[in-house]
Amino acid sequence: MSNHLQIRLAGAAGEVTGSCTLVEVGSRRVLVDLGLVQGRPDAPEANVALPLDRLDWLDAVVLTHAHADHCGRLPMLPRAGYSGPILTSPATADMLPLILHAAARLQRRLADEARRAGHPPPPVLFDGDEVDRVCEQIVPVPGDAPYEVASDLRVTLHPVGHVLGARAALISGPAGDVLVSGDIGHRDGQPLPPPPPPPPADLVVMECTRGDVEDPPQACPDVQLAGVLAQARIDAQVIVCPTFALGRGQQLLFRLGQCARRGEVDMPVMLDSMVASVTAPMHARHPGELSGEARDLLARGIDPLDFPQLTRLRSRRAARVIKDLRGPALVLAGSGFCEGGPIVEHLIRWLPSRSGRVLLAGFCMPGTVSGALADDPPRVRLRGRWVPVEAPIDRLQCFSGHADAPQLQAWLASMPGPRPPVVLNHGDAAPRAAFATRLQSAGYTVHTPGLGEAVQA
Ligand SMILES: [Zn+2]
Repeated sequence: MSNHLQIRLAGAAGEVTGSCTLVEVGSRRVLVDLGLVQGRPDAPEANVALPLDRLDWLDAVVLTHAHADHCGRLPMLPRAGYSGPILTSPATADMLPLILHAAARLQRRLADEARRAGHPPPPVLFDGDEVDRVCEQIVPVPGDAPYEVASDLRVTLHPVGHVLGARAALISGPAGDVLVSGDIGHRDGQPLPPPPPPPPADLVVMECTRGDVEDPPQACPDVQLAGVLAQARIDAQVIVCPTFALGRGQQLLFRLGQCARRGEVDMPVMLDSMVASVTAPMHARHPGELSGEARDLLARGIDPLDFPQLTRLRSRRAARVIKDLRGPALVLAGSGFCEGGPIVEHLIRWLPSRSGRVLLAGFCMPGTVSGALADDPPRVRLRGRWVPVEAPIDRLQCFSGHADAPQLQAWLASMPGPRPPVVLNHGDAAPRAAFATRLQSAGYTVHTPGLGEAVQA
């Protein structure tokens, strides 16, 4: 068939990780994202097996953004036979080598630790050499001009907020246009601007991570943050805040910076995440990606993600200073769902104590430690043992990298032209069903295919 539009979800069909969508436009094939499966008991095995039988027949690969659940298996591509271009935004191309090398080191460390402990090691999916190889295939696509992969295949990248460099991919040929959203940012996702209207398309694949959530009207994030800091100051507490290296970490740094510039951060702030410590300054290198508020600061010579109280810790050795920390202080540490990374160490130390305090900012995935903490439990399980929870827990919903249901719908409705059929991916069963119902009520034809199932337009 040379005149058809078809998609197949090769991942993230009814779940929020392992994003991977095969788009066929006429006789051309494009893979959008090749993400890591996370959070499932069978994730290690699921990640070893690539989701497509053949990769050498792809005309292009597009990466929407640099989160692990979208980019985490890209270094497996060369070995699997794909040697073509990997199209992404310049900012994502800038960050990707750092993020993938950090992932390779983490996999090796986890395998070594398991071996030392006498456990079967988790699989190492790729090494540093394979990261270098795949990074040679990266092609930065600036602006919103189409990139011509072939005479009958173009790829255009459109901003969607979410994190630095994130894009939706418009894949176009004589048969029509398919838009794959990647993750769609929250309208208040500063330091980035809200997602602009998407371009017209004949078929849309869109995420629905928060498709069953309607955010209540939010109090000003700076006021909420300042309130938590003030309480920690009174109680001389160390606040422990799980963050993601890309996204939530920068949102928190940006708002904390604004609070600091008003004199509301009178305590040390430690950023205990090697990747976040390096990606944060990259925002200033891509001013075109930033919100007006962040660009105004840059124009005055101020790095929007820096402030005098902040110490960025770029290694485990540097992070040893936290050992002697006394309240009041704030520690931002990866990883965001508290399933691994430096945050675990900080939680083990401070959760059993009233001298500790936990700040949960944004989405806490059910089934993870962060999801358990969000329910204010008497204890949580960390590194195989139960840890009592005495530290007070604050939740700030105002920090989210993902649009809620009304914002997702508004993004789709802002697309010019007739309503396209919509395929929902990247959402657990309940949000996906809720958002499908919501869109159907608004007159859309909605598909929720299973893994590998084709949808044609
Ligand atoms: Zn993402």
